Amino acid sequence: MNLARESIELLEQAARILWFEGTKHGLRDREWMALRFLSRANRFSRTPSALASYVGTTRGTASFIIGELERLGYLERKRSATDKRSVMLSVTQQGKKFLVRDPVNVLVEAIAVLDDDVKIRFRDTFRHVLDQSDAAEQRHHTDVCKRCIFLREDRTATDGKMTVEFSCRLFRAPIAEAEVDLLCSSFEYHRQ
Ligand code: SF4
Repeated sequence: MNLARESIELLEQAARILWFEGTKHGLRDREWMALRFLSRANRFSRTPSALASYVGTTRGTASFIIGELERLGYLERKRSATDKRSVMLSVTQQGKKFLVRDPVNVLVEAIAVLDDDVKIRFRDTFRHVLDQSDAAEQRHHTDVCKRCIFLREDRTATDGKMTVEFSCRLFRAPIAEAEVDLLCSSFEYHRQ
């Protein structure tokens, strides 16, 4: 029995939930993927180019997806506060509510009932698979900021109390504590 191949056969079938013909609740699979990504992405990645890279499509197709999500009221675009030429995408309250109907929730719920140590192994297994395929294809997948080599952590002890400040060495910008768990398309993981 080839356990690795058997796992991929199962993964392939689970992926049918993610990739489908037509629409589910009015959105195509890539539109769902875009909405899901933008609801979890940090401020550096809520851009049309980061979205195109995550969804694995051209800028033109990403633009079409953004237009469709905007038309439905799930997304809005604003000029970036730091660079007026850039656009920042934000999921609206209506979009956040709509994510309750996300077709992938059935997979999330199936994993959520597992014991925590199983969930951690499950997540780490996928990371390992992605890290290995990144190495083979010379690319970096999108992942959470807290694992990135560019994240700097400065700890200061004041009156016996420890405070931690985060910053990004790539973007030369402070990172709020809540942002370290968000997705970033510029994420880079140090390979051993
Ligand atoms: S530290 Fe890495 S993941 Fe975090 S914002 Fe910077 S580039 Fe992105």
